[in-house]
Amino acid sequence: MENDKPLAPSTKAQVRCKPINRQQLLFRPVDVEKLIEPDHPARAIWELTGKADLTAFYADLEAVEGKAGRPPWDPQLLASLWIYAYKEGISSAREITELCTYHPAYQWLTGLGVVNYHPLADFRTEHQEALDELFIEVLGVLSHEGLITLERVTQDGTKVKACASDKSFHRKATLEDHLRLAREQVKQMEDPESEEVSQRVAKARQRAVREKQERLEEALKVLEQMQAARTKASAKEEEKKGKGKQKQARVSSTDPEARIMLQGKGGYGPNYNTQISTDAKAKVIVAVGVSQSANDDGELLPAVERIEANLGEKPRQIVADAAYPTQENIEAMAKEGVDLIGPKPERKEAGQNLLKRRGVSPEFYPQAFSYESSTDQYTCPGGKILVFETEERQGGWVRRRYRARRSDCRACPFQGQCCPETQRGRSLVRLQPTPEQAAFQAKMETAEAQQIYKQRAEVAEFPHAWIKDKLGLRQFRLRGLAKVTMEALWACLTYNVCLWIRLCWKPRRLVQA
Ligand code: SF4
Repeated sequence: MENDKPLAPSTKAQVRCKPINRQQLLFRPVDVEKLIEPDHPARAIWELTGKADLTAFYADLEAVEGKAGRPPWDPQLLASLWIYAYKEGISSAREITELCTYHPAYQWLTGLGVVNYHPLADFRTEHQEALDELFIEVLGVLSHEGLITLERVTQDGTKVKACASDKSFHRKATLEDHLRLAREQVKQMEDPESEEVSQRVAKARQRAVREKQERLEEALKVLEQMQAARTKASAKEEEKKGKGKQKQARVSSTDPEARIMLQGKGGYGPNYNTQISTDAKAKVIVAVGVSQSANDDGELLPAVERIEANLGEKPRQIVADAAYPTQENIEAMAKEGVDLIGPKPERKEAGQNLLKRRGVSPEFYPQAFSYESSTDQYTCPGGKILVFETEERQGGWVRRRYRARRSDCRACPFQGQCCPETQRGRSLVRLQPTPEQAAFQAKMETAEAQQIYKQRAEVAEFPHAWIKDKLGLRQFRLRGLAKVTMEALWACLTYNVCLWIRLCWKPRRLVQA
């Protein structure tokens, strides 16, 4: 038999254990206040959200004292639930609802109530300004605690996967096919003679198909914008290089705003670029932004602007990796009065491939020409002079062109190896850094700047690792730039709240105890 117990070897009688009774009903008293220990982080979160000014979250609430109607859940509770859930690596509204039914921390926060996932999900995405204000409020608390100085801030970007697969990216023809099918499906569902299902199921299906149709329409709109931008770019390229190859754009039918980017661990996939600014004093995140750009170079100035908007002042120094110190950023930071620390941009030498294509022999490449700074002239291997002709700025460099006299080259026995194609005299380009670039390079030569740069990774990469590993934000759950920006903001807010608990709230409780 199934419940037969083994025989005890000493007595040969059956072993006897405590019975388990799952058929009983119990009524137990629950002391809600004692569901969690006194130093539980849920209490800290409740305390912090209680101190914060959440007026903006309450602005839309219509239920008022003395008026009939069901009262909504308190925004302080919804904000606390989300912060606690993100802290535990949970980013699903349905999961929070489930946890409210049995998890002591969620039960303590809700007072044993169960919050439906609809108001929770809506709360996360419907209050952008209020969430920005809450993020700033928490920064104010951390600044008051002396954890933010803005003396040194690191800037770094990380790719977070979009809620879309590689396979959801399509070209125009496929998107149009899918849209046609979605429209047919919507029509079929509106047909009263279509398959009989319950009203609730029918409504859910209709909503799903309609949302799919809207996403496809949005995808086609985005694709047309991308195609127009590419046409413009390839026209410019054609004008510049005499050739232009236009690639066909592809857009995701699941999240049209996601972009294919090179991922941190290699390979390409649909992502968003999450930009985080971290104060070096205690690794507090002082600003967060999300962009559709695969490159970080355009993200430095917006980051400084976000920091200023959040804290009322710019950072004194900003430390960033090799993706950021472009000429534009070096100039912009100098203008903003922000000391930029980062690797020196690589010097782009004139392409040897171009010289090879033009039939120039290696003995007549630029290094064979000698430069005399006192006269600002070059002397060629044939002993002739190349004088300054024009200059233009490109990136962080000034391109100064020098040219030999046409008559000298025509009469030269080396012309076939030195400048076989040109009808004019041989020319070459000398690259000189712009004054801002030269100042930046000189600064980055110093031991002090190099020492500061060495500490960058430890500060900048800490919040990225925390948000991805502890809070689980490796992939966004929401879709669209506005919504993923809010998701990133919730995660960064939670990260800052965790810092406050660890560095301020817990030590204070220990002292009080
Ligand atoms: S071709 Fe002109 S530039 Fe070249 S070696 Fe002769 S003179 Fe000098």
